[in-house]
Amino acid sequence: MKPESPPAATALPDSRGLNLFTADPDFDDLLGLYLEPELHRHLRPHLETLGALAGGELDELALTADRNPPKFHSRSRSGEDRQWIEKHPAYRRLEEVAFSEFGLAAMSHRAGVLGWPRPLPPIAKYALTYLYVQAEFGVCCPLSMTDALARTLSRFADPSLTVRYLPGLTSQDMDTLTQGAMFMTEQAAGSDVGATATRAVQDEDGWRLYGDKWFCSNADAGVALVLARPDGAPAGTKGLSLFLLPRRLEDGSDNRYRIVRLKDKLGTRDMASGEIRLEGATAYLVGDAQRGFVQMADMINMSRLSNGMRAAGMMRRALTEALFWARHRVAFGRRLIEMPLMRRQLLKLILPAEAARSIMLYTAIQLAAADGGDEAARRRVRLLTPLLKFRACRDARRVTGDAMEVRGGCGYTEEWSDARLLRDAHLGSIWEGTSNIVALDVLRAIRKEQAMPALLSAFPGDAFVEKAGTFASAADEAHARQAASALYYAVAAAILDREGLKLPRRRALAALVRQYRLEPRDPLQSARPEFEELLEA
Ligand SMILES: Cc1cc2nc3c(=O)[nH]c(=O)nc-3n(C[C@H](O)[C@H](O)[C@H](O)COP(=O)(O)OP(=O)(O)OC[C@H]3O[C@@H](n4cnc5c(N)ncnc54)[C@H](O)[C@@H]3O)c2cc1C
Repeated sequence: MKPESPPAATALPDSRGLNLFTADPDFDDLLGLYLEPELHRHLRPHLETLGALAGGELDELALTADRNPPKFHSRSRSGEDRQWIEKHPAYRRLEEVAFSEFGLAAMSHRAGVLGWPRPLPPIAKYALTYLYVQAEFGVCCPLSMTDALARTLSRFADPSLTVRYLPGLTSQDMDTLTQGAMFMTEQAAGSDVGATATRAVQDEDGWRLYGDKWFCSNADAGVALVLARPDGAPAGTKGLSLFLLPRRLEDGSDNRYRIVRLKDKLGTRDMASGEIRLEGATAYLVGDAQRGFVQMADMINMSRLSNGMRAAGMMRRALTEALFWARHRVAFGRRLIEMPLMRRQLLKLILPAEAARSIMLYTAIQLAAADGGDEAARRRVRLLTPLLKFRACRDARRVTGDAMEVRGGCGYTEEWSDARLLRDAHLGSIWEGTSNIVALDVLRAIRKEQAMPALLSAFPGDAFVEKAGTFASAADEAHARQAASALYYAVAAAILDREGLKLPRRRALAALVRQYRLEPRDPLQSARPEFEELLEA
């Protein structure tokens, strides 16, 4: 019998197995600029390992977990009333890599994670999570909330509360890990947090909460921070107090709240977001009862920063995939990347992805300085956080969609990462404050917290930053988004220029940002055909 001929080599290039760290050498170059040399050397093998996982095992797990969303149960087969959320083993493994193997939620809070003798600085956490999120977005929500909750607790809570809960929040052992959550949104109180109706009632045993929380991601978390209004407290955000809500009481029994149902969502399909009814739940007051919202704002800002970082990571994944496809896919006898029109489209993906990455790294450095007591750095972080959350999350929507198109029809199917990435990317702009709310927060940071002089002082003499700063300082509500976008891109270009002193490609990126985002353009004229070097591997 004639042997069967071998199958023809496929015409579709497959990026599975690509190391997402080494496939993006600019990232390591940038880390060389921003990290202390010793820490850079120490982290590099971990980044390489995570890059390989993200382009291989984690990517496959994320696809599987996405297809197998969590299931909510409220009764055992023998009729016992008991609530639990069943999570697919693929999601469990994704959690294990993030929380346990890489200690991403713990590394800012204690020494010893990844063998480093001190708590790792924010930039280490952001660099590693930036890689992780390129494979999986859903787990990053519990991860970020656990990390941010540990920070808020350490800063504001009574030490007895911190001593009790911090070890669990920073554990790398999945059996002793306590994950965190933030239950704030109610049906009538989303953006308008001051309308919160959840009641806090104090009796001889402590505080009890009554109310309905409408969006609760990581719904079965071990502890959550909750905003509630003590009886008799004033209306608005001023009357809100912050509480720590444990899932289990000290005797091991369930706390008095119920998960009512899980949300059926467009993205983050593998992570359980639910609705929760508080029925006299035991909770512990965190910090000053009159400053509940201000304290919660610390957690919200940390989550917003993390959100911006994740948007940057998702854009990078989209870009890496688009570049890979364009370099290997052939049409009309040429590789896609050789075609002038495709090259121009790829530049449009590079611009927002690189702007977000540079702002993220710069903000991480400022955050470390702020936590060390530098007041100007604190004000910069206050302004950079909503800038990044607003603009990077919006850009991620477009970049993930356009990168999907680079892969053509395959990009639209669920076997590749593109569709999931696109669905997940749309969430960034909605949770932790919608685009409008976060852009308005940029104006608030400028007006109420005098953050602009601190930002300007970091880029002396930069005409675009000054001009965008003047525009944003005078902007009215209706133009908050325009002002935030202008300031974001002006700052991005200034940071890219600075990076360009050591890494010349970054200077070309700065020029690209200014040409396409800050300078006036005539729609009836061709742009200068520059920036070709940005498409070289
Ligand atoms: C998947 C998912 C998970 C979530 N997880 C959590 C969670 O874990 N914990 C939690 O507390 N919340 C969570 N949320 C809730 C989320 O943070 C809110 O949905 C969001 O803050 C918006 O609130 P809202 O839905 O009530 O919209 P609304 O506040 O009703 O806003 C509707 C629209 O009005 C606009 N708007 C409102 N005020 C203004 C204004 N002053 N000027 C201009 N425009 C305005 C908004 O920008 C928005 O476009 C989650 C949401 C989603 C989708």
